[in-house]
Amino acid sequence: MTHEHADHAQGIKSITRLYGLPCYTNEKTRKASKFLDKADNLVEFQTNEPFQVRDFRILPFSVPHDAADTVCFTLQVEEWKVGIVTDLGMVVPTVIEALKGSNVLVLEFNHDLELLEKGPYHTSLKERIRGQYGHLSNHDSTLLLKQLLHPGLYHVYLAHLSQANNSYEIAHLMASHAIREFSQDAVTSLHLTWQNYISPVITV
Ligand SMILES: [Zn+2]
Ligand SMILES: [Zn+2]
Repeated sequence: MTHEHADHAQGIKSITRLYGLPCYTNEKTRKASKFLDKADNLVEFQTNEPFQVRDFRILPFSVPHDAADTVCFTLQVEEWKVGIVTDLGMVVPTVIEALKGSNVLVLEFNHDLELLEKGPYHTSLKERIRGQYGHLSNHDSTLLLKQLLHPGLYHVYLAHLSQANNSYEIAHLMASHAIREFSQDAVTSLHLTWQNYISPVITV
């Protein structure tokens, strides 16, 4: 569990009970979360310190977001590296450092700046979203993607898209332009994610 916001934490108890799984989180997130009261199977990790789960080496790295101690993850098994990064307000050098060399990326493309501006949210919430501890815009995420593109990046999932303040077409177009600009022969496939549907499953 990356942080205590409801869209990440609310389902944890059900998932851990239904599948008999442990939940890994850090101490500050555990203490800040109202959803983990008396949850079974909690395992704590230290932020920025890698740990091992079976064959997976997992790095929980710190990101700027308005929760107690938000992290994102990289998962490595053998020579494969997967980076999962949502819920951050800005890209800092440690984020790029943690993610570089990823073969699969799950990347936040939260909002389009213009759609957010014109959208239905209250001014204070708009400011929170586009603030340095909020979420990445399509523009920010595209810049991040450009820094992470390399010939071994095979799959990119666009994630955490706002239904109110983004458009799948715009996000997809911006990401695919970045990939084509990197190389006309790039092997990187783009995938979308939804709140209510399962994304394409890939085998690597
Ligand atoms: Zn979130
Ligand atoms: Zn959040």
